[in-house]
Amino acid sequence: MMSATVARAIGLICICLAACIIASAPAFAAAKTVRLPFLPNKTVSSRVIYIENPRFPQVTKAELATVVLTAADLVHEHFGITLRVPDTIKTVDSEKIFADLVTKTPKHFDRVMGDFKKDAVDWSKVKDMLIKQIQAAKGSLGDQIAFAKPYLVKQPTSNDIKAFAESVAGTFRTRLSYWTKAKLADGYPIIGKVPGREDLPLNEYLYWALMAKLGIEAEIVLTNQFIASVEYIPAPVHTAIRGGIIGGSSEFNPASRFGASVWMTLAPFLINDEQVRKLRNGKIYSKEDALKYAGVLLAHELGHLLLHLGHPWSNEACIMRPAEVLDFAGWEKKLNPQKCNIGSDPEMTPGSLRIPIW
Ligand SMILES: [Zn+2]
Repeated sequence: MMSATVARAIGLICICLAACIIASAPAFAAAKTVRLPFLPNKTVSSRVIYIENPRFPQVTKAELATVVLTAADLVHEHFGITLRVPDTIKTVDSEKIFADLVTKTPKHFDRVMGDFKKDAVDWSKVKDMLIKQIQAAKGSLGDQIAFAKPYLVKQPTSNDIKAFAESVAGTFRTRLSYWTKAKLADGYPIIGKVPGREDLPLNEYLYWALMAKLGIEAEIVLTNQFIASVEYIPAPVHTAIRGGIIGGSSEFNPASRFGASVWMTLAPFLINDEQVRKLRNGKIYSKEDALKYAGVLLAHELGHLLLHLGHPWSNEACIMRPAEVLDFAGWEKKLNPQKCNIGSDPEMTPGSLRIPIW
């Protein structure tokens, strides 16, 4: 049986998947979590690093600044916090940073990462994990089925949990393997080996968590790298149905002023690939809109980072309620800080999120 704390950490969806791996260990009850940051005068400043992969759509320094400034405006509007934006954003090449990261791979990563690039994932195990996640989630089975239904590749054969998990796992598998076939402008897969480039796990969620754990010197890490993967941990239904895409996450980072840092990818906003478009409810985003929605997602992540807020699923006005699949336009339209005050929902209470230290 999972402890309530474990179930809660897992239920928090876009965040701390790596922590959940630690959380699955029996010793988790004693594990420490990142302390809620003290924010003097509700004013904070942060360092921003941009990790760039030349294969993915590019953004200029000014465009990156737009994303951060949009997020800063929203952080003020929704959380009453002033976020000071740095004058410079340091750019680092993704290959350079990952070539070093892979030399520091923890032993257990191999057991936890599903090798979908070689079609060697144990999907029955993923399905069993999904059942656990569905049981641990706050919404009823009926609510979860209703939420996922429009996005499933094949509908469940019945309304029981096994049939639903089977259908979600099938959707996960179809959409995740799609990234290994769909191509970028350079003619090579979105996820996969590219001639002349080192084969690095750039798309793997766990390495982005590891980057934070090893102490990257920033509170905000942005990237244009596309990140999608499958892990043998109870995956949230909403990550599974979009093919394992993870937009961002807040992770333990000993080098951060807040004890944790945020990473967020711009790729789901900038790529106008067919499957990405489908998950966006058919929309193609202009660069301007893409940057705006990226700023909104960054503000959501900053709510996790600065106030340790969770996901208030029942209130669509809350920026802390995750977007459905990749429909950021539909999500942004419903946001209204007047209808979602701090403390208005248990998940909107500072400290409701626990970011484990691992
Ligand atoms: Zn979130």
